Amino acid sequence: MYEKTVLIIGAGPTGLTLALDLLRRKVHCRLIEAAETPFTGSRGKGIQPRTLEIFDDLGIIEPILAAGGFYPRLRIHLGPLSIRGGSLGSSKPPTVSTPYPNLWMVPQSRTEAFLRERLDALGGPVEFNTAIANFRQDQNGVDATLSTGETVRVDFLIGCDGGHSTVQKALGLKLEGETIDEKPMLVADVDVDGLNRQDWHIWPFVKGGVIGLCPLPNTPLFQLTAKAETIGTDVEGVVHRAIGHRIGRVAWQSIYQPAVRMVNRYRVGRVFLAGDAVHVHPPAGGQGLNTGVQDAYNLGWKLAHVMRGGPESLLDSYESERLPIAAAVLGLCKHLHQKRTIKRGVLTDQLGLHYRGSSLSSGYALGNLHPGDRMPDVPLADGSRLFEHMRGPHATEFATVEGPRILIRPDGYIAHIGEEQFREYAGEPTKTVTGSVKGTDHR
Ligand SMILES: Cc1cc2nc3c(=O)[nH]c(=O)nc-3n(C[C@H](O)[C@H](O)[C@H](O)COP(=O)(O)OP(=O)(O)OC[C@H]3O[C@@H](n4cnc5c(N)ncnc54)[C@H](O)[C@@H]3O)c2cc1C
Repeated sequence: MYEKTVLIIGAGPTGLTLALDLLRRKVHCRLIEAAETPFTGSRGKGIQPRTLEIFDDLGIIEPILAAGGFYPRLRIHLGPLSIRGGSLGSSKPPTVSTPYPNLWMVPQSRTEAFLRERLDALGGPVEFNTAIANFRQDQNGVDATLSTGETVRVDFLIGCDGGHSTVQKALGLKLEGETIDEKPMLVADVDVDGLNRQDWHIWPFVKGGVIGLCPLPNTPLFQLTAKAETIGTDVEGVVHRAIGHRIGRVAWQSIYQPAVRMVNRYRVGRVFLAGDAVHVHPPAGGQGLNTGVQDAYNLGWKLAHVMRGGPESLLDSYESERLPIAAAVLGLCKHLHQKRTIKRGVLTDQLGLHYRGSSLSSGYALGNLHPGDRMPDVPLADGSRLFEHMRGPHATEFATVEGPRILIRPDGYIAHIGEEQFREYAGEPTKTVTGSVKGTDHR
């Protein structure tokens, strides 16, 4: 018998998150990945507070916290002198409303490994060495041909295949935008002799441009960044001559071009795009991976609901909610890249991102909470916390002692504030919790 299926293309952070969110909702999906083996680099190492909340919901927060660390302070090297500066991150204690207030550093390959382990546990392993070759869609489904020669008929196809997305090109879409630095950059994971691991070391004035070495938590490695042309192919030699420290081993390296680009559609019929396939960010601000994970988290529950017979119109809200966020985030990254400022915190933690203008948001404001906002955590009278009750694929109804009901979507955003019941798209059973929002803030 034909089983309703989603085919996800690309097992980076976005595709892995989507597969995990679908599988825990018992939606049949396949996740194919062109590479033969998992990605090994540290690349997107900054996990924002909002993404930590999502990883908590997806059941991988413990290994993420154990594998990571706070952002170190910057140490600027000027010839024989060095000055210790601030940090791109913070180390604040949790608040009543925000259990994870700090930017957390985890090498991207570790984050992907934890998502993959959870997927394996749910019985949905990544199919490596399998690329999308081509696909055609009609009103009822998508026929896809894979590089293995297999052809499959699926209900939906999701391109999470990164900045050079085959799926996006096949749809006739194009990433529009600009290169914001003409010079390509090198990023590499390296062993360095004799450098302290407490600081993120920056040499701003070495010949050819800035060199940075950031210690990666729970590894012996540093993430090296430098202008690619300064380094050429002789990474060890050039870094040694420039900064006087010897590089023992280059564990991974890659070149990228700082750019801000996005497409103007996230959906064509039964084919969707998410992550770097729809928006490409410069590293400044640490937003790319986080935005991709949150695209997937927005799409997962909607797809699951539609595949169970919910109205397909729900899927239109994916693009209308996520595209404006990508545009705003790209503007922020461009600003941070060009101004070279280390100001971060509320600007970049993604806790304030909201869907207030969405067709899925209704009702009235309650104190400083608006329909469409991320629901903050709330301590409850029995000593538990609202987030504990929200964990899992269901929607949550928060019956406040102040009177109104708050309906919280499965992805943690407020759908509705008001008296009437509003469950039509909750998708999963709705759990009811009682408490007070008095004194609750967004962060
Ligand atoms: C130096 C640097 C630092 C960064 N720092 C941060 C940071 O601190 N925080 C942050 O949020 N982001 C950061 N980023 C960005 C982050 O790395 C990306 O945004 C993130 O990897 C995007 O995830 P993705 O899953 O959408 O795409 P990708 O990670 O690119 O994954 C796409 C996957 O699809 C696969 N694929 C491609 N084509 C096909 C095909 N035809 N068939 C099957 N599979 C295919 C690829 O092999 C790949 O595994 C940084 C980026 C750089 C370069």
